[in-house]
Amino acid sequence: MSGAALPVIDVNGGCADVPVLKERGQREVFCGLTGIVWLHRKMQDAFFLVVGSRTCAHLVQSAAGVMIFAEPRFATAILGERDLAGMADCNEELDRVVKELLARRPDISTLFLVGSCPSEVIKLDLHRAAQRLSRQYVGAVRILNYSGSGIETTFTQGEDACLKALVPELPAVESTTPSLMVVGTLADVVEDQFARLFAELGIPVRFFPPRRASQLPPIGPGTRVLLAQPFLGETARALIARGATLLESPYPFGVEGTTAWLRTAADAFAVDANRFASAIAAPAQRGRQALERYRARLEGKRIFFFPDSQLEIPLARFLARECGMQLVEVGTPYLDRVVMGAELPLLPRTVLSEGQDVEKQLDRCREARPDLTVCGLGLANPLEREGLRTKWSIELVFSPVHGFDQAADLAELFARPLERASLLAV
Ligand code: SF4
Repeated sequence: MSGAALPVIDVNGGCADVPVLKERGQREVFCGLTGIVWLHRKMQDAFFLVVGSRTCAHLVQSAAGVMIFAEPRFATAILGERDLAGMADCNEELDRVVKELLARRPDISTLFLVGSCPSEVIKLDLHRAAQRLSRQYVGAVRILNYSGSGIETTFTQGEDACLKALVPELPAVESTTPSLMVVGTLADVVEDQFARLFAELGIPVRFFPPRRASQLPPIGPGTRVLLAQPFLGETARALIARGATLLESPYPFGVEGTTAWLRTAADAFAVDANRFASAIAAPAQRGRQALERYRARLEGKRIFFFPDSQLEIPLARFLARECGMQLVEVGTPYLDRVVMGAELPLLPRTVLSEGQDVEKQLDRCREARPDLTVCGLGLANPLEREGLRTKWSIELVFSPVHGFDQAADLAELFARPLERASLLAV
């Protein structure tokens, strides 16, 4: 790894072989519908039709409401509140909503029918409905389905399910000439920065999901997949099944993570070491410098992660190694070693927990009294009332935090609640 200014940290083998505390109990996490909030901003010509209840409509609207300035590109077909005579009626109702929507919005190129938990929806075969509607609107709009149900998905798994549903639609290429596919929703500003860096490295790159759902990147035996988000295991497997090769890598959080991530791509494309060093030198240096002031504020502070966004492991790695924080516990909703394999050895040894038994975990947190607790909205308020400082994990997914130029912004998200606490204490 380049970047001489990074502290050398002996992680003693990291967390690759630490025993994982597995818990299966009551969970406090958002469902996969939440992903619509960032997916609809990314794919400008896609529409997300949640087939669900008023609760689902409320969740998506309140999570996304503040960010909608144009006509929304999501809606909810509410099936759960009518006295439905049978499945035929459900399908008719869905067909009617889709027909009205497509008549009103001819700009939609891809329509996702998103499943949810109400029992009426579970009984409805959305895959068959999507196929039936696709035949009806063939050539005009692509209609796909996935589940964002809280029974099947947590918070960020919604994006994984959505992208997996798109994988069969990617055009096939036979060429074995290597090309890079960066997978995972990135803020446009971050995508532009990475596109410039890959251009400097001479690596041909496409991003998935693309900004327009109608312009899907091709896939074939030459495709090298580099995940930008650590929660896309199912998508990665679907891409591998279509002939792509997964490049295992740490994730581009912080200067170290971004350097490692770009290096993974550079190695796969045999980029000359000098070219690599000169391409990243200036932005990496900028990132390191900007990080310094946050390191001073975060160093030595103890942090506890509840499982929520699936970003916990790479973020904990960044905060421990680049900001000097001490890890009390790192919880993750599920541990997928296919996508986390390159991160675990870098994570300083700590309590690593998978899944959740929320009461037990709260007890551990209360006993440890960390300086900062990263958790979902539902846990934040009670913990704050008990005098613990918290950080909402949802913000970490909504903010542009990848890459060199965002490393300091990422650190600031953790420094801010600590600062507030010290101001209050004065
Ligand atoms: Fe809808 Fe289920 Fe999510 Fe609640 S948990 S918002 S019912 S999909």
